[in-house]
Amino acid sequence: MRILVVEDDRDLAAQIARALDQAGFAVDLSHDGEEGEFLGATGGCAAAVLDLGLPKLPGIEVLRRWRGAGLAFPVLILTARGEWADKVAGFRAGADDYVLKPFRMEEVILRLSSLLRRAAGHATAELTAGALVYDTATGLVTLDGMAVRLTAFEARLLRFFMLHQGKVVSRTELSEQMYDRDADRDFRSLEVVIGRLRRKIGEGRIEMRRGEGYRLLPHDPV
Ligand code: CA
Repeated sequence: MRILVVEDDRDLAAQIARALDQAGFAVDLSHDGEEGEFLGATGGCAAAVLDLGLPKLPGIEVLRRWRGAGLAFPVLILTARGEWADKVAGFRAGADDYVLKPFRMEEVILRLSSLLRRAAGHATAELTAGALVYDTATGLVTLDGMAVRLTAFEARLLRFFMLHQGKVVSRTELSEQMYDRDADRDFRSLEVVIGRLRRKIGEGRIEMRRGEGYRLLPHDPV
């Protein structure tokens, strides 16, 4: 899934992007509020990590504009300011969670993963589709209790399917969530990875629907 990171401290932004990439997310980066607001409004991200102190447009105003435009994706606020008034303003503007700087990268990843999971309507860290289990906290995948070894990209794909199980997802939607904004979005290579993933988790768990897209069965195939 694609995460927008708006943070003007370039070193910190790069660290967050690296950690998100390692955790299996695609990442769009922006270093100012104006561009960040635009990318959030137009980019189709699944969630955003937003700094409050930003050049050109403050983070709170970015968030107000997104929410004012009806954009409901989860937003995790990053800020050095620990004052209660700022937190209240953040939540009033539509923030979903808060991390105070300095923070551990693991905390950002865990909080973001749980925001995404809850936004998709799942209450626990373990996503299950029949005998297939994806633990969003550890990234471990098991089938009938046996570990399934996936590449980072396959895991990224499976996470999206598990969060949207039972629903048909189009190729366009998949490639939007799997690749960074600037990446070449190549349907052919996406299809190859989907083919490999289908073989690893058992043929028949991901249905292919001609002209529509793909659907992960919420149960074991019969
Ligand atoms: Ca800042």
